Amino acid sequence: MAVPKKKTSKSRKNMRRAHDFLTPPAASVCPQCKAPKLPHRACASCGTYKGKEVIKSEEI
Ligand SMILES: [Zn+2]
Repeated sequence: MAVPKKKTSKSRKNMRRAHDFLTPPAASVCPQCKAPKLPHRACASCGTYKGKEVIKSEEI
């Protein structure tokens, strides 16, 4: 079995992990109902995109 010749230092380990972080999903606010929504997607709560209803309203 291949075994590393040298122990990975804390510095090198942390340098490797510098790119491992997660970024939170971008959030924007719906101009129609002010609910948080994802950009470039129709609003999940009111079903509108660019001021037009694109998803049939599920609330009666
Ligand atoms: Zn909305």
